Amino acid sequence: MDSRRDFLQKLSFGIGATAISGLPAYAGASCASPKADKQLRVAIMGLGSYGTRVAEAMKDCKMATLVGAVSGTPSKLETWKQKYNIPEKNTYNYENVSKIKDNPDIDLVYVVTPNSLHHKHVLQIAAAGKHVLCEKPVADNAKQTREMIAACEKAGVKFYIGYRMHFEPHTRELIRMREAGEFGKIMHVNNYMGFKSGDPNQWRLKKALAGGGAMMDVGIYALNGARYATGEEPIWVTAQESKTDPVKFKEVDETIMFQLGFPSGVIASCGTTYNFNNYERLYVVGEKGFAELSPAFSYGPIKGHTHLGPMNQPVVTHQTLQMDGIADIILNNKPDPNVSGAEGLKDMIVVDAVYESIRKNGAKIMLTGK
Ligand code: NAD
Repeated sequence: MDSRRDFLQKLSFGIGATAISGLPAYAGASCASPKADKQLRVAIMGLGSYGTRVAEAMKDCKMATLVGAVSGTPSKLETWKQKYNIPEKNTYNYENVSKIKDNPDIDLVYVVTPNSLHHKHVLQIAAAGKHVLCEKPVADNAKQTREMIAACEKAGVKFYIGYRMHFEPHTRELIRMREAGEFGKIMHVNNYMGFKSGDPNQWRLKKALAGGGAMMDVGIYALNGARYATGEEPIWVTAQESKTDPVKFKEVDETIMFQLGFPSGVIASCGTTYNFNNYERLYVVGEKGFAELSPAFSYGPIKGHTHLGPMNQPVVTHQTLQMDGIADIILNNKPDPNVSGAEGLKDMIVVDAVYESIRKNGAKIMLTGK
């Protein structure tokens, strides 16, 4: 079986509880609960596999509504118009998408195109005066990310990254416990995320469209997870790459181990791969306790336990909570749970350093001043 599909099969569509720690009360509300009066009107740009997953998940949203679509393939737009009740006037292609600025019925565009197109597409959407939600990895590097943040600031629009784990109940609970000091002083983090990549012709293996390999695609979860497991920002990075299939992974990284040093002295030991399965875990251990999530970053069901026993958080559709969460942040001026463009930049600075360390044979890259 295609291994990406294998990875994706871990999803769950259940929506359960009504109150999730750290999230607004609507989050996880039952499918029967009504739509809120105010709606964030969303267009999806890039109608591929993940864009479709988001569209399906949005059927259960209470505060966000799918109203538009951007695609280079007319037949996909036709299908989406039928399937998601999208009016013709809210459909665009990549050539005329800038005209979205004249459309008062769209508030936000969710950029779900291949990684290396995010920079261009976010700049286009910001220039059109619409809020932007952009998929991870935010861009190819920190330089592009800074340009995207600056463009959104200049246009006066909000810029968020699709870091869905920040809306996920087990992850929220882990962050709550860490912030409440329930683990005591954090001593170590061990995170990894990877899967065996399938189709050798996919864009994910082409540097020009993917920007990089496993590190960019799923290593970012281990990295972002190290930041929310510690509540600190790394000050140095070391990294090593192994490439067992130099033909398939000619253009992008296959397997990377990386270590992040934090100001407290904690070292997060992290890994990512495109060449084997069963590699997904977040583990944080402190002087008084620990938490382990596995699966920790895929669609779930996320499972976890701590020093207190099994975690019993509800199983949710991540994308439904994320889209309702983004709507609540924008419509009701709520603080965001570390999913801003600035958070994407913090990750990209580390990703740049991971690749720099590899180029320099594992040298320690200091992050201060980067
Ligand atoms: P995909 O290949 O299924 O879809 C990509 C879409 O972009 C396609 O509809 C394709 O037609 C379109 N596209 C536009 N210009 C293109 C070009 N020049 N070349 C190729 N395709 C082009 O990919 P996907 O899995 O949907 O991934 C899209 C983005 O979503 C990526 O940035 C990926 O990292 C992200 N993603 C995030 C998650 C998550 O859990 N947050 C999961 C999967 C993918």
